[in-house]
Amino acid sequence: MKIRRVQPSPILQKKLRVAAYARVSVDTLHHSLAAQVSYYSALIQKNPAWEYAGVYADEGITGTSTTHRDEFKRLIADCNAGKIDLVLVKSISRFARDTVDCLHTVRQLKEKGIAVRFERENIDSTSEDGELLLTLLASFAQEESRSIGDNIRWGVRRRFRQGIPNGHKAPYGYTWDGEMFRIVPSEGEIVKEIFRRYLAGESAYAIAKTLAGRGITGRKGRPIEQTTVKDILSNISYMGTMALQKNYISEGHIRKRNKGELPMYLVEGMFEPLVSKTDFDKAQEIRQRRVAQSGNRNSVRMPFSGIVKCGCCGSGFSRRTAGKYRRWGCNTKERKGSTACDSRPIREEELVAAVRTVMEKDDFDTAELRHKVSKIVIHGDCVELHLTNGRIKKTARIYNGQRGSNPFTNKVYCASCDSKCERDTWTKGIKVWSCSQPRTKCGLKRLPESELKEAAESLFGDGYEGKIVQSVERISISDDEVIFQLKEGGAYRWQRQCG
Ligand SMILES: [Zn+2]
Ligand SMILES: [Zn+2]
Repeated sequence: MKIRRVQPSPILQKKLRVAAYARVSVDTLHHSLAAQVSYYSALIQKNPAWEYAGVYADEGITGTSTTHRDEFKRLIADCNAGKIDLVLVKSISRFARDTVDCLHTVRQLKEKGIAVRFERENIDSTSEDGELLLTLLASFAQEESRSIGDNIRWGVRRRFRQGIPNGHKAPYGYTWDGEMFRIVPSEGEIVKEIFRRYLAGESAYAIAKTLAGRGITGRKGRPIEQTTVKDILSNISYMGTMALQKNYISEGHIRKRNKGELPMYLVEGMFEPLVSKTDFDKAQEIRQRRVAQSGNRNSVRMPFSGIVKCGCCGSGFSRRTAGKYRRWGCNTKERKGSTACDSRPIREEELVAAVRTVMEKDDFDTAELRHKVSKIVIHGDCVELHLTNGRIKKTARIYNGQRGSNPFTNKVYCASCDSKCERDTWTKGIKVWSCSQPRTKCGLKRLPESELKEAAESLFGDGYEGKIVQSVERISISDDEVIFQLKEGGAYRWQRQCG
């Protein structure tokens, strides 16, 4: 016995025969009819997958119900004769304004495999919910005793009665009773609890943990994980709302998820809600806020960890936080005290800004950073980025006197008693450096910070702040002078001003 493998022969893609139906009011007839015919013939002919099957155009008479439908009838006849695969229409009102049988016609055409595509509403009658949408939207144009909302619900329910529309599974908390989604009390309580806890400030993770701790599971005994909690929190079904046209059938007859190619229609009040719209909206706000925050956090902590080094002792820099204040500091200093290393911590914004400057980008992700930067060395006067291509780029450190960024911190000492000097606020908010010993023990004359800055600037020039941090070992203040002792040896002397 011989087994032969048969290669599937390629399916020849038959061109779709496409026609357009136009209806033009008499008022605008002259320019509009010609314009529509040429618009449609061009539209059809420029699509290589389409074959032009003609434009059918009727004149409508505005303000009356009279409509000449000769062309419409001819279109249907040609469809029935198998000459057309797809009909393009500008909008539902053009097709169905005063006729229920237009809808009926759409259905009939659909049964024959002929699609009708409404341009303005972006609806394809062969899409999953297409026919339903047509029913709904066409009902806007119809004068009936029922309100529009009722009409929509009625339309959807009628459709539901024929079975759950594809793609509409009963969400957790509901069950399908053959006609509509009904609340499953035990599950419904869990959904409500999830929203309640979330609105009270708990995280999805904490909620999942709490539920797991009580042995609560989802469908099929699966645990309700953090992701499930998030899915529940963002599912509009819990407001009793249903989204239509979630999927559609593409030109190649492939079902596709609607990611904005077609409008999605929301039908509110479809079934009993578990959550009010207000609470649902609040939950979305909280989620967005948290996503934004965690985005910031990750974009900072993750790319930097492990590659930030101390330029003073060579040890690693780690992230420390205190409230909103985030900074990176030397591990040696953190472990062994401030005398073990003379490095200065760097504010996280400054670190991020330095990397942005060097990378010449406002945004970078971990992969990008790791790809380009092998090491970030924090010096007193600059941030050094060691690039993977061997180059080193430097950015000056910023000392603007804000918290953690005063260049003189830990460097100033009293020359008469050898104690450390502290930064204080004197009268009228003037910042001064004074001996940490009580006045009774040491009478050192306070040095205004403005004078210390003036001294530093005159001795070290522009950008003195970084130079002070980087190369000054110690600043000694006596009543008549300020001595800047350099790390490499040597010193600068400043004569104190009188007064
Ligand atoms: Zn260090
Ligand atoms: Zn002193």
